[in-house]
Amino acid sequence: MNTLYEHAFRHVLFPAYEKGLRRRHTLDYMKRYEADQWLDPERLAALQWERLRRLLEHCAQEVPYYRRRWRELGIQVGDLRNLADFSALPVLDKAEIRAHFDEFKADSLKNQLLYKATGGSTGEPLRFGYTRESNDRRIAVMWRGYGWAGARMGRRTLFLWGGSVGEPTRAHRMKDRIYNAAFGRRMLNTFRMSESTMSDFADQIDRYRPAVLVGYVGALYRLAEWLIATGRRVYAPESIIAAAETLHDFQRDAMEEAFGAPVFNTYGCREFMLIAAECEHHSGLHINADHLLVELAGTHGPVPPGQTGTVVVTDLSNYGMPLLRYGNGDMATSCTQGCPCGRGLPLLARVDGRILDVIRTADGRVLPGEFFPHMLKDVPGVTRFQLVQKRLDRLDLAIVRNAAFNDASLAYIQREIDKVLGQSVELHYHFPDDIPLTRSGKLRVTISEL
Ligand SMILES: [Zn+2]
Repeated sequence: MNTLYEHAFRHVLFPAYEKGLRRRHTLDYMKRYEADQWLDPERLAALQWERLRRLLEHCAQEVPYYRRRWRELGIQVGDLRNLADFSALPVLDKAEIRAHFDEFKADSLKNQLLYKATGGSTGEPLRFGYTRESNDRRIAVMWRGYGWAGARMGRRTLFLWGGSVGEPTRAHRMKDRIYNAAFGRRMLNTFRMSESTMSDFADQIDRYRPAVLVGYVGALYRLAEWLIATGRRVYAPESIIAAAETLHDFQRDAMEEAFGAPVFNTYGCREFMLIAAECEHHSGLHINADHLLVELAGTHGPVPPGQTGTVVVTDLSNYGMPLLRYGNGDMATSCTQGCPCGRGLPLLARVDGRILDVIRTADGRVLPGEFFPHMLKDVPGVTRFQLVQKRLDRLDLAIVRNAAFNDASLAYIQREIDKVLGQSVELHYHFPDDIPLTRSGKLRVTISEL
């Protein structure tokens, strides 16, 4: 091979070939997932168990961590006969994965792994490895979930997204631009969002005329608030996809009013990408149960239907660095009903937010993050708020007031909090001029520092 050709092959032809091949895989996976969503719940459960069983056997043969850990626990892979057996295995947390990082890699795949890291906004970042195949499957289920909101490949889609950290190289920016143009997508960096740039964002929506608007909840809500306050109308997309943060009802209402389109909630995390998403019925979020196993755990095993638990996830296709029963730090509530759409994928009733942001009391009560936004939305004069719990018996409520706020507002808040928390908690009020966003541009409405 002459060197010029070799160079061209290595840098141009092979990547193009490989990309073509990989896209074909992703398209094949998409077709499969597209069909499987309509299987009835029993068939899907059987399919999910079959995939889990195969993964467990792989872990027993190939993954040093599970070989050692199961030996210590006195378990053999044959003892795990159903989901209940599997649910008795310990939950993995970040500290455990960090401490035994290399042991989680499968012997035969450890040299072919890709790596990503979680953001550090809620503690130390975590690196994790995954195979190309599992990545292609993640992309396929992502397209399926976004498709429920009408965001199919090639549709004009505008993203209100956090920009990349640091300065991407020119080549990288160029690649992104070509990729986005090819897929009919455009990105707007929400790190630039401020009172003075809001009209730019509105102008960009009018100019691009997206079929679908996708964004961080905080960014979409902030823009919606601004549009409502200033009376500015923008081009109405067909749908809005809310991502990356817990979506509260008051935020959904504001977005639908401001943009004149239905909001589709989605739930994902960096470790697994899309976990669940709303279909056109908005009656909960369909879990990608043919790709992931999602459990909701209580203090004594799985929570009953309709209850809130911590989210425990197993990626059924990541054979390279399998994380069995990974606790991702979120809380969610299961659903007691199916969805009228006919998809067999089970539903989450709602995602309650970070475990860290749930409010607790000394007598063991747990208040989901949803409570305060729900209660405060009807109080006159509250522009923005943030609740911080530093101790079990103390809550600090910061309220950005406007002229409509008065003694009756305060009395109402006190009464409503007494109803759910009794006298077990001291409530302290603060009235700052503003509440800053987090470093990643998110607005956290409740924060637990316990
Ligand atoms: Zn549905």
